[in-house]
This record gives sequence, C-alpha cells and structure tokens, in this order.
Amino acid sequence: MPLRTSSIDDTLAEVFGYHEFRPHQRETVAHVTDGGDAFVLMPTGGGKSLCFQIPALHRAGTAIVVSPLISLMKDQVDALRANGVSAACLNSSLTPETASEVMRDLRSGALDLLYVAPERLMLDGFLALLRTLPISLFAIDEAHCVSQWGHDFRPEYVQLGELRELFPGIPLVALTATADDQTRDDVRDRLHLLDAPIFSAGFDRPNIRYTVVEKRSAPAQLERFILERPGDSGIVYCLSRKRVEEVARKLRAAGVKAAAYHAGLPADKRTSVQDRFLRDDVHVVVATVAFGMGIDKPDVRFVVHYDMPKNIEGYYQETGRAGRDGLPAEALCLFGLQDAVLCRSLIESGKNPEQVRIELHKLSAMIAFAEATTCRRRVLLGYFGERRDEDCGNCDVCLDPPQLYDATIDAQKALSAVVRTEQRFGAGHVIDVLRGHDTEKVRQWGHDQLSVFGVGAELSRDEWTSVIRQLIHHGYLRQDIAAYSALKLLSEARGVLRGEVELAFARPRVKIAAEVRRGKRGTRSVAFDGAAAGPVDEDLFERLRELRRALAAEQEVPAYVVFGDRSLADMAARKPATRDEFLACHGVGAAKLERYADVFLEEIAAG
Ligand code: ADP
Ligand code: ZN
Repeated sequence: MPLRTSSIDDTLAEVFGYHEFRPHQRETVAHVTDGGDAFVLMPTGGGKSLCFQIPALHRAGTAIVVSPLISLMKDQVDALRANGVSAACLNSSLTPETASEVMRDLRSGALDLLYVAPERLMLDGFLALLRTLPISLFAIDEAHCVSQWGHDFRPEYVQLGELRELFPGIPLVALTATADDQTRDDVRDRLHLLDAPIFSAGFDRPNIRYTVVEKRSAPAQLERFILERPGDSGIVYCLSRKRVEEVARKLRAAGVKAAAYHAGLPADKRTSVQDRFLRDDVHVVVATVAFGMGIDKPDVRFVVHYDMPKNIEGYYQETGRAGRDGLPAEALCLFGLQDAVLCRSLIESGKNPEQVRIELHKLSAMIAFAEATTCRRRVLLGYFGERRDEDCGNCDVCLDPPQLYDATIDAQKALSAVVRTEQRFGAGHVIDVLRGHDTEKVRQWGHDQLSVFGVGAELSRDEWTSVIRQLIHHGYLRQDIAAYSALKLLSEARGVLRGEVELAFARPRVKIAAEVRRGKRGTRSVAFDGAAAGPVDEDLFERLRELRRALAAEQEVPAYVVFGDRSLADMAARKPATRDEFLACHGVGAAKLERYADVFLEEIAAG
C-alpha cells in the first residue's frame, strides 16, 4: 500500500472501516506517527493493534512487529490482508519457499508490516539486514513477556532490550494488557522506554457483564444459560480435564455445537478445535485454562467459569476473552463452597511455603469477589489498584442490588479495632476482638483490655466479615499480603473515624436460588443497542452470520476476518441497498467493499 498522506481518521475509515477511535488510540497513533516511542497499556480488546498499524501506514518503510505466538501473528496478518494492507509474518511454521518470498518482499520494500518471532528478529544476520532497510517502527506486542515479574516470562524476549540502541531514531512501541506496577516498570526499564510516554486506558471492560451465581445443579444451570444464547460463541472453563470432557459431552447431547479442549488432547485435535471455533463451526469450547492464550477471537459473547478460578488475575484474564469487539458480553461464574475447599487443598499441596501463602491470599481475594455484595466491577478494578467512584450498572449486584443499611457505626467500630490492635492482625483476630471472644491470641496480646473489646457482640462473625470486606472494597482498609494479610488503614478511613463520612453498606445477601438472569437482553436489537445504526433485523443477522461462516470456511480464515458481529449487526440494521450504503457500515473499508459488497448486498436484498 502506498504511503498514506491523508489524515489518520481517513485511514481509520478507508482501511479499517471504523468511524471513531477508541479511548487513547488517537493520541497514541498521532504520537507514534510523529516518530515518538510509546508504552501502551490497554485492556484486552482495547484496540492496541491499531496503535502501531495506522502509524505503519503513515510512515515510510516497513513496520517490524514482535509477537510471541505464531497463531496470533497469523490471525493479525489475515485480518490486515483482508483490509488490503500488505502484511506478512516470518516464523518457524513457514515453508522455506514462503519464507524466502517474504524475505524478498521485505527487501524490495513491498511490506507495510512484518510480524516476526523475537528469536528470529534478534539473529545477527537479520538485524544487519534490517539496518540496511527503511524501517517505519518497531512494535513489541505482549511486552510483559520481557519481565520475570510478569505471568508469562519468555527468555527470548530479553534480548529485545537491545533494539532501542541498535535503531536510534526509529519509534519503538511496547504494548501490553498486563499492568501491575512492578511488571510495568520492569518492562519499561528493560526495553529502555523509561522516557517514553505511557498511554494507559485502565483496566475496565465496560461491555462485559459480570455475574456470579451460587452453584446448585451446575449442568442444568449451564445448559440453560447456553441454550438461551443460540449460535453465540462462548468458552466454558473447568478445573479438570475429566470435567471438561464430561461437560462437553452433556452440551453436545443437548444439541449445542460444543468441543472439548485440554492439554491432554493430541496437538492436531487441539488445533482443529481452535480452527473450527474461529470459523464458527464450533460454538462453545469447553476447556481447561490451557485454552485461550493464542486465541484472539473478538466475538466471543460469553465466558463461563464452571468452577471458581484460583485467583482474580486468572479470572480477569479469562473473562477478558469475551467481547473484545466491544459489544455486550457476559462473564458468568458458578460459585460453590466446595470450589473454595477444592482450590484450597490444591494450593496447600504445593511445596514452597512462601508460594502457598501468596496463593492462599489470592484465593481469599477471589472468594471475597465471589461473595461480594458490592459492585463486582469495583471489586475487580480495586484489586488492580484502580479506584472507581460509581457502581457500574452492569453486574449482577448492580442489577439485582442487595439491601443497604447505615453502616457508619459498624465501620467505625471495625476501623478502631484495627487501629487499637496496631494494624498488625488479619480479619479473624480483629473480629474476635470486636465480638469479645476470649481466645488465646486475645489474651496473649492483652487485647481483652482494649476499649474496643466486645463492642460488636451484637453482630455475627459473618456480618463482621461482610463489613470488613466492604471496607476493603470501598478503599478504607487494605490487606497487607506481605504481612500475613494484616489489615491496614487507608487514608480515606480517617474521615469515617472522625464521623465526617456516612457509609451505606449492603446487608449480607441471603443466598437465594439465583437463576442466571438474562437481564434486559432479550433480543439482539437490545443486545446490540448503540452498536448498530438502529434496530437489528434478527433474521437478517442470522442469515448474514451464516453467509460469513460459509465465506470464512471457503477462504480458510477466522470468521471475524470476513466481518465482526458488530459489522453484521450494523448491516442488519441499515439494510444497505447500494455500494455507498454498504461502505457506510461498520468495518467496511475500501478492500472489503470490493470483495464483499456484491454477495452481501444480494443476501440483504433477498430478505
Ligand atoms: P487488543 O490487542 O488490545 O486486545 P485488538 O487490537 O485486537 O485488541 O482489537 C480488538 C478488536 O477491536 C478488533 O476486532 C479490532 O478490529 C476492534 N477495534 C479496534 N479499534 C477499533 C475502533 N476504533 N473501532 C471499532 N473497532 C475497533
Ligand atoms: Zn456493578
């Protein structure tokens, strides 16, 4: 594609068929196009790729994109080509002929973007070649892999630290969705990006609805949930391989196009499940956590945790695979008390005591999330250090709110008990003090002599646990992982102790036989509200989905490479009759206009 001189907005529309930038995309694109380095932190599905893809089209030379997984490279290259961009990848999966073709295109300057594996890029010969060619930028995707603090360290990423010095003056962009502070700083340090601006979109995924329900008869709950969403793509996570097989079998018996996926299956079987899922041939994949790393399917509409995950990091990463396209998506977690016991025993069988302690702490945060009586999103974001002042309106707690009561006095009692015991004890002991329990630890520390001893006898242990959890979730207390989960006051707590703040807390919810609520979403026209130009014609949407499946199978590409759900919904709302009208639909750029206008217009007219 010739160097683009029009505005970045025009490129967004003409090449990608999108009409608006997502938060932070525009600033990042403009900055990198101008030649700046950048560190981009966006949640999964936030749209990181455009942050280097558009600059690659506006700067002279080839953009070199480092990506850790062959499957991800391939999907991105397929998607770019479908939009008429000249892109290729170099990795160990290519035949020698294809690889030399790619090298030829690279040398001749025919490529806008080249995706490479890190070990390939850092070969001396390859670096030497790149230095003789015009390079528009370097992008390092999944940049957290460079840090040992990250959850996915890859030794072959370490050498990438040399790039900044080897290619002075060429913009270097690092992108990741993982962002605890330690990892973030380490990545910036290792890649020599400490001076580069950080473009951060925060962690929130507003289109995902979080729901936790009590596990009662899990197979029936799951079946009902899935049958209410016919044809939608989804992932169901289970803790064991045996359970994966069993659940997949039951779903198939219920008429769902479901397949099992776990590390115990032969590699070709796993690849075929992935491919069929990407082509919408399989609707639901039932899997262990082994599934998902290399999957970048934007229209996954739901993720179910059939068993409670061991920690919030894992839960958030797995649920994050839903709704990357920004359309409404659901995260359902079935939570049984038995799950907590099982996780605990799995963790406790570990050998390293320090590791066991950390994992148990993480498990208790996960349980607290599952039992939360406050907005789930606030709990999740709070866990990642992001404070939010309002409830989200899109989680089960917000949609079916528990009863509130004035908890100011209870909160003051709990906070004073934490202060009086010198912020050195966990919730269990603080509650003993509040309830006036005469335990050995209480006597050992002389805590029965404190003025707070027994001031909270009227509340049960569960009620105090709930008060303390809510103080944590609302940012008044924190649990210090490094000090045996001791409760520590946060600065906001002063106002509560001084009586300047009134607190309304939720009463612990009586666990009812919570059925999975379908919420407002009854039909697609509601589900895709705001995403399409108007009410969506359901029948047409289904027909377009079928057309897309057929085209994807024919071309052997993932279904979304043809068009995403949002594009189909938009077409099923606008019902374009001319090429110009088709071009106005979401996701239709110049290349897709040429390729698909006729067949889609024909299908739409047939209705
Ligand atoms: P990430 O790498 O951050 O997980 P991607 O770059 O893969 O996310 O983008 C996720 C999805 O959102 C893709 O299908 C992409 O085409 C789409 N997308 C990105 N930016 C926009 C935008 N400005 N408007 C509409 N869709 C977008
Ligand atoms: Zn909420």
